Amino acid sequence: MTTNTAHHTPTDTPERADLRAAVAALGQSHSGDIDELWKEAGKLGYLGVNLPEEYGGGGGGIAELSIVLEELGAAGCPLLLLVVSPAICGTVIARFGTEEQKRRWLPGLADGSVRMAFGITEPDAGSNSHRITTTARRDGDDWVLTGRKVFITGVDTADATLIVGRTEDARTGKLKPCLFIVPRETPGFEYHHIPMELAADERQFELVLDDVRLPADALVGDEDAGLLQLFAGLNPERIMTAAFALGMGRFALAKAVDYARTRQVWKEPIGAHQAIAHPLAQAHIELELARLMTAKAAYLYDSGDDAGAGEAANMAKYAAAEAAVKAVDQSVHTLGGNGLSTEYGLARLITAARVARIAPVSREMILNFVSHQTLGLPKSY
Ligand SMILES: Cc1cc2nc3c(=O)[nH]c(=O)nc-3n(C[C@H](O)[C@H](O)[C@H](O)COP(=O)(O)OP(=O)(O)OC[C@H]3O[C@@H](n4cnc5c(N)ncnc54)[C@H](O)[C@@H]3O)c2cc1C
Repeated sequence: MTTNTAHHTPTDTPERADLRAAVAALGQSHSGDIDELWKEAGKLGYLGVNLPEEYGGGGGGIAELSIVLEELGAAGCPLLLLVVSPAICGTVIARFGTEEQKRRWLPGLADGSVRMAFGITEPDAGSNSHRITTTARRDGDDWVLTGRKVFITGVDTADATLIVGRTEDARTGKLKPCLFIVPRETPGFEYHHIPMELAADERQFELVLDDVRLPADALVGDEDAGLLQLFAGLNPERIMTAAFALGMGRFALAKAVDYARTRQVWKEPIGAHQAIAHPLAQAHIELELARLMTAKAAYLYDSGDDAGAGEAANMAKYAAAEAAVKAVDQSVHTLGGNGLSTEYGLARLITAARVARIAPVSREMILNFVSHQTLGLPKSY
């Protein structure tokens, strides 16, 4: 548990094992300032490990990027924006952007000097993305975008937000999304902080897009291939959310195990009581199982199997979120009163761990997906 090699997965090549060890060391030496960590990780090439080398990235895949997020999380300093900036936005631009868009955005996303948020969720279309109403209309060569988004992470620190909208002629019927890069200072683009009960440096925002005028090249890729492009970004998002949850679960569990080894109120340390030891062992097993599924999802995605990755990424996100929620809960309990103290810093993870159960797709929507897509059961909605 305490040595880093114990955290290797079967898909860790020697290079990935080195990356894991190096990122873990960076996380452990981290001072507490998240912006400093972002800059340092960017300088070392960790933020863009998944992006193409010709645009300043590391030439790896989501397997590498998920290692970075998991290990920073396991060290107690997850960079939540990794889920969005290089994983969703970087992937979508690298796979579908024009040559000019790639040259404009990818080098900055890769070294961390540019950050991009991602906005799909709307007040009346949470789990049901088919209902989004943010609409883009053509005006000469420009696009004019109008709509509202909620819970968008990191807009205040992001240079731009990748907004999922739909064109006017696609307002009804099945979602035919199109993706627009909206720089933060564009006139008509407003963002308001939504206070959240979360232990996280990254904040969530409501967005109001009121006739936001964008040049033609704000549209990423093809207006007719939006769904494909969107899904290309959503699988990495799920895999990265799994990595986020796994890192947090490992961090909490390691604290609890340390505590249980030494805390003594009877003749043996509390970790000798099976009522304390077994749930911790169970939490460890469940985290390890979820790590395997996450490695599988990353492997499938990086091999170009988008369909196979879709199912695996959903399952990995589900398993990792459930394992993290349980690991955090059990860890808090293991510390008794100290579990709720500010000094030990565990109680603040209770709500943070639950983010992975809700976002980017809730536990129930994954169970729906597996019921319908994998098991072929009928749909109730
Ligand atoms: C911390 C945080 C950060 C976020 N960051 C971003 C971001 O950066 N960008 C972004 O676009 N979004 C972001 N989100 C939004 C997130 O993706 C949504 O909250 C999520 O998709 C759920 O949507 P909702 O909140 O509208 O819940 P709803 O869709 O209203 O669902 C409410 C409950 O009903 C259940 N439910 C809904 N439909 C069904 C059904 N058919 N069957 C069974 N149960 C159902 C859900 O599982 C859930 O438990 C973030 C959310 C949080 C909490």
